[in-house]
Amino acid sequence: MRCCAKIENKKMAHKSGFINIVGHPNVGKSTLMNALVGERMSIITNKPQTTRHRIIGLVSGDDFQMVFSDTPGMIKEPGYKMQERMNSFVRGTFEDADIMMLVIDITERFDPDSPLFSSLEKVKCPLFLVLNKVDLVSIEKQAKSILEWTARIKFTEIFPLSALTGLNVKLLLEKLLDHLPEGPEYYPKDQFSDRPERFFVSEIIREKILMQYYQEIPYSCEVVVDAFKEDVEKDLVTIHATIYAERPTQKSIIIGKGGSSIKQLGIDSRKAIQSFLDKRVYLELFVKIKEDWRDDEQLLKMFGYDD
Ligand code: GDP
Ligand code: MG
Repeated sequence: MRCCAKIENKKMAHKSGFINIVGHPNVGKSTLMNALVGERMSIITNKPQTTRHRIIGLVSGDDFQMVFSDTPGMIKEPGYKMQERMNSFVRGTFEDADIMMLVIDITERFDPDSPLFSSLEKVKCPLFLVLNKVDLVSIEKQAKSILEWTARIKFTEIFPLSALTGLNVKLLLEKLLDHLPEGPEYYPKDQFSDRPERFFVSEIIREKILMQYYQEIPYSCEVVVDAFKEDVEKDLVTIHATIYAERPTQKSIIIGKGGSSIKQLGIDSRKAIQSFLDKRVYLELFVKIKEDWRDDEQLLKMFGYDD
């Protein structure tokens, strides 16, 4: 499935650029990126902080290429080293942007203490405001919100939009194209992300952990895909993945009575991976303990937090 909207660059020269999406947790950044790129880019759940990495999605046409990055939400007072890393990913997005896109949840109140706003005032490139989740509010509320926001920061373009229903998503893409500078093809045109398939596999398993387990389990787990082997003849992908927990108690919760919980996790993950890869999947899950990985520099590197 490719992008929902077919848009055209009316000028002759090739246009391209980096479009960086920022915003508080849970406002719909990942959902918006999925709507823009038309693939299942980053995992979406209704819990904040599910996106830990910077993920790039690509929308390309014959004469243009948009490189999107979805960032984790800024955390005001980082508690762990992992959260400090997450904040530094967000700061990085201000440095290489051709267009910045702030996404807010129209149903939420403005927070003047957010570390995002002071950075946004300094942005030199075009700054887009996306007021997401308009499907949940009245036209009056939308109008009021637009007035409030324009009084605070000067935006290049403002879009009331619904990432979930797709309302105004095509219009947003067209406006982004208008503001895109002339530039080269950064990635092959048939690619939709700079991340390998096995990265998405680990994100899918992480999403299923979030959905199945409660309390501290999801936040104390990391998933690493150890093996990813494709047998083209049999049309089968064999995947081995390890879930790292911090404590023995967490490990036994993940496994469950007689292995029932991990079995369910395996079934749900396999189904989702199968539909993502569009291939038959054989999945084996392992659980290991790595104490305090969230505060361990070396382990963080191993888990890919070293951008
Ligand atoms: P992120 O943390 O900013 O990446 O937010 P997500 O994309 O993970 O979305 C958080 C929650 O908001 C999910 O439950 C989404 O389904 C929901 N959501 C996202 N966009 C919309 C929208 O336009 N309308 C509604 N009603 N819900 C949305
Ligand atoms: Mg997200």
